[in-house]
Order: sequence, then C-alpha cells, then structure tokens
Amino acid sequence: MKFSRSKNLFSKALKLMPGGVNSPVRAFRSVGSNPVYIKKAAGAYLFDVDGNRYIDYVGSWGPMILGHAEKSVINAILKSAQNGTSFGTCSEGEIKLAAMIRKFFPSIQSVRMVNSGTEATMSAIRLARAYTGKDKIIKFEGCYHGHGDSFLIKAGSGVVTLGLPDSPGVTKASAKDTLTAVYNDINSVYRLIEKNRNNTAAIIIEPVAGNMGCIPAGKKFLKSLRELCSSEKIILIFDEVMTGFRLARGGAQELYGIKPDLTTLGKIIGGGLPVGAYGGNKKLMDMIAPSGPVYQAGTLSGNPLAMAAGYETLKVINKDKNFYKKLSILSDYLYDGINQVLKKKNLDYTLNTSGSMFTLFFTKNSVTDYSSAKSSNISVFSSYFKHMLNNGIYITPSQFEANFISASHKKN
Ligand SMILES: *Cc1c(COP(=O)(O)O)cnc(C)c1O
Repeated sequence: MKFSRSKNLFSKALKLMPGGVNSPVRAFRSVGSNPVYIKKAAGAYLFDVDGNRYIDYVGSWGPMILGHAEKSVINAILKSAQNGTSFGTCSEGEIKLAAMIRKFFPSIQSVRMVNSGTEATMSAIRLARAYTGKDKIIKFEGCYHGHGDSFLIKAGSGVVTLGLPDSPGVTKASAKDTLTAVYNDINSVYRLIEKNRNNTAAIIIEPVAGNMGCIPAGKKFLKSLRELCSSEKIILIFDEVMTGFRLARGGAQELYGIKPDLTTLGKIIGGGLPVGAYGGNKKLMDMIAPSGPVYQAGTLSGNPLAMAAGYETLKVINKDKNFYKKLSILSDYLYDGINQVLKKKNLDYTLNTSGSMFTLFFTKNSVTDYSSAKSSNISVFSSYFKHMLNNGIYITPSQFEANFISASHKKN
C-alpha cells in the first residue's frame, strides 16, 4: 500500500499543530508509524487520500455504531443545517434527544446536554461535590474520563498509550482531591474510603472500561461499589460516554442491572457530531443552574445539528428490536475468527470483549485491570497494528483502546 499523500499532509500538519494532530493518539506515535489521512467514510469503511480502503474497527472511537454516513442520519443533518447551524436558543431537537435518553436510562430523569464527554464528566463531579459538600473523588487506574484536571491522574487512553506521567499543568491542589483505586478490586476502594470517609463526594468509573483497552467490570465488584456509595452517601457516577447505547440501549447499567446516581454520556448520542450529556435524578439535577446554584453553561450546547444527528441515530437503533442482539452475533463471528487464527500462531494473547467492544492484548495473563493491561507486549502490538493497516484493516493505533463493531459490518 502507498501512503505518500498521507505522509505529505502529515509533514505539513507537523508545522501547524502540536504533534501534527488535534488529539494525541491519532499521531500513531506509540506504534511507530505515521497517521493516514481519511478523505471519506461509508458504512464499515474508511478511504484515505492515497486511495486505500480500510475496514474500520475504530468507528471514530465509538460514536459510529451504525457505520459511517448512514443515510437517515446524514439526511437529518442536512435538513437541520438548511434551517441554520446554531441558534443559541431553545429548540425542539433538545427535547427529542433528552426524551430518548430518559426513556432508555431509568436512572436519568433529567439531563443536561454539553459538547463533549470531557465537559460531561467535569460537570458531573462539580455537581457531586456541590450536592455532598465534599471535595475528594475516587477514580480507577487506567480509566479515562476526558482531559479535565481532576481526571488526569493515572488516566487511560492517550495518557497511558504515550506513557505520559500524570499531566504537568495539573495543580497539586487539584491532584490531591483525586484518589485512585484498582479496577475490579473492591478492597482497594474500601481502603481509600476508610481514610477519607467524610470527604469523598463521588466515585466515577467506566462500568466497562474501554480506555485501557476493553476490560469489563465484574458484576459483584460494581454491585459492591453501588452498596458502598449508598451506605456512605457518595455519588456513584457511571461514565458511559463510551458504553451508553453501545452495550445496550441503556448502556452498561442496563446490562449489569445497577443504577448509578449520575451518568455521563457522549459519543453515540451525538451520531458523529460533538455532544456530551450528564443526567440523574431530578433532585440532583435540579441543583444545576438555572434551577439551582451549580453553574454550567455552553454557547453551542444543544446545538441543533448535533441534536438531530444524535436523535436520528438513536431512532435507527430503536427501530430494530434486535439491534444489539444482531450486533452481538456479528461481533461473536469476528471474535471466533480472531481466536481461530491466533490459536494457530504460537502467540500469547487475551481477547477481551463486551458486546461490540473488543481489545486484543498480547499477554497470556487475563486482563482485569490497569497493571494486567500493561503486561501486554507492546512491540508485538505495534507489528500487529502495522500488519493490519497494510492489509486494509484499521484498528486503534494503541494497545490501550477499545475497537468497535458497527451495524454496517458484514460477515463477508
Ligand atoms: C471518550 C471518553 C470521554 C471523553 O469524551 P470526549 O468527547 O473525548 O471529551 C470520557 N469518558 C469516556 C469513558 C470516554 O470513552
């Protein structure tokens, strides 16, 4: 395969942007490669500027559950754009998307739209702190909740991919309010709570982690977290920016049958446009301005194009009662294939999956937390990544990310 046009563009970009990119992992640094420039996407495919076609298992890092350029979504965006791109006022699309979210997330009675997952998680912990009157939050090693200061402590995604230490620029004062526990290890949480019983506002978790690679939480572990938060009056936040409408209509909380106090959403609910949202019960959410004193605002929040794209995406999902079942069958078909191929190679590997999310780790250990994820052989991953790219298969350019299967992927 030829990559000369992509290479050319990247050398121009390097002069204009830090690392040539607008989000770190896109630069392909951890796999020792150069990014490809995508010109067009359709269904399960990406097409780059050199004319190469890839089967896409990244799906814009999660949002594209229907596949790319799904007709009804594109039409909804076009129709909406013809009526103007932003009003900065109330518009009906906000109500339609909010109602759709509420319908599938029984834990969400009231929801606020924002423009990214990062905004959603930042706002959710502000609300939790205001509600409880406490300062500290607990997060889990390897979980990623966007790039807010409070979350860049043992964070996943690009932070672990690039081997960055906790980010400079985060003040000590803000870092000291973030405590980190070990994923799937309830005792590590109990230990933190013992020492910080009276000053912990919230526990935030990816109920199925995607940002240290795909790592499902154990059901008992999540249940114990729920019980702990209830008895200690701590706000339990499920960060479902990735898993919301991905694992089930009602996200991981539907799958596990556990109700968090607050939920953050993003990715799929924007249908490929920039959106985030956070919600919970009415009493909690009524603390947000203008109902209550907790300030949070956004010039483009509830943007009509984003609302239209998100609503249409959820509508398509909702039309097919067997949507997630079909997606699961399709996913299992791929996982079986991967297992069949890899069993013939003499390679240590662990394939972690949850519904249509998956990560292939090159380790013989089972991967249940950050440290076991780190036991994956990164140089094997890099060769694997390059081999896939050169064969027209686009997977995440990082070991510590989840791949996704969309409804547009086909068996052949
Ligand atoms: C992607 C992601 C975020 C951040 O969302 P952005 O829209 O990139 O700001 C937060 N939490 C989780 C679990 C995510 O997967």
